[in-house]
Amino acid sequence: MLKYDSYYFQCPCCQAWLEGRNLKSEFVNEAILYSDGKVLYDNYITTRQKMILCPSCGHAFWVEEPVEPFITVEKPNAAVYSWNTWRFFGISFSDNKGKQALIQHYRQFLAKTHYEPKKEIYLRRLLWWAYNDLHRNFQYIRWKYFLNGFMSYGVWSAYRRMLIEGEKIFLKSNKDFTENLQRLLTLLEKHPEEQIDMELPEIYRELRQFDKTKAILEQKTSRTHFTSELLYHSKWKDSRVFMVTG
Ligand SMILES: [Zn+2]
Repeated sequence: MLKYDSYYFQCPCCQAWLEGRNLKSEFVNEAILYSDGKVLYDNYITTRQKMILCPSCGHAFWVEEPVEPFITVEKPNAAVYSWNTWRFFGISFSDNKGKQALIQHYRQFLAKTHYEPKKEIYLRRLLWWAYNDLHRNFQYIRWKYFLNGFMSYGVWSAYRRMLIEGEKIFLKSNKDFTENLQRLLTLLEKHPEEQIDMELPEIYRELRQFDKTKAILEQKTSRTHFTSELLYHSKWKDSRVFMVTG
C-alpha cells in the first residue's frame, strides 16, 4: 500500500521537475514523536521540507505555500527528480558524516542571508533537530535493546558505535547547539503563533534550565504523558532528546 502522496514542483531557476511526498494522514498516528517535536514515520521525517537545493542546478529556494499552481499532484510529462535525490539535500543518515553534513547545510543557509522570523524559526528548528539526530535514540546503547531480540548483534553493535560517536560530536558542538537554541527561543517567545506544542519547556530542558521547564509545566492545567515525561527527565537533570511515543 502506498503510504505517501506524491506532488510535483519546478525549480524556479532551471525549471527541472522534482517529486515531493506527503505522508497520508491515516498513517500519522503510527508515527514516532520525539520530545523536540520531530516526528518520524519509517525513519522519514514527516515535516515538509521547505528549503530545497535543486538537484539539477544547485539553486536554493523555498517552497513555503504548498499550493497550486506552484505545486501539482499530476505527474508532469517530463523527467522528474525523485524525492531521494533532493530530500535532505541528498544526504544519507546511515552514518554520522551524513548527519554532520546536514548540520552544515542549515548553518550555511543561516549564515548566507537574513531571513524573516518565520523562515529563520523553520531553519533553526531543523538545525536543532539535526544536532539532536547525533544522539537521538541514545537509549539503544543499552544491552537490553540487543537482548530483547529486535536487532541482531551486528546491527545493534554498529548502531551503538554510531550513537556513542554521535554523542561525542554532539558534546563537542555544544557551543553552536546552545547558541542556535537560544536564538530559536528568543524568536519563538516573540512569535508565539509559530510555537509547536511543548516546544518552550523542551527547549529550556535541553538548555539545562530545568527550573524553567518545571515552572512552565506547572502552569498547565492538564497533565499528559508528554508533560510527565518532561518533568521526569528534568528531575534527573537529563537534557537529551527522548522518544515520547512510538
Ligand atoms: Zn534548478
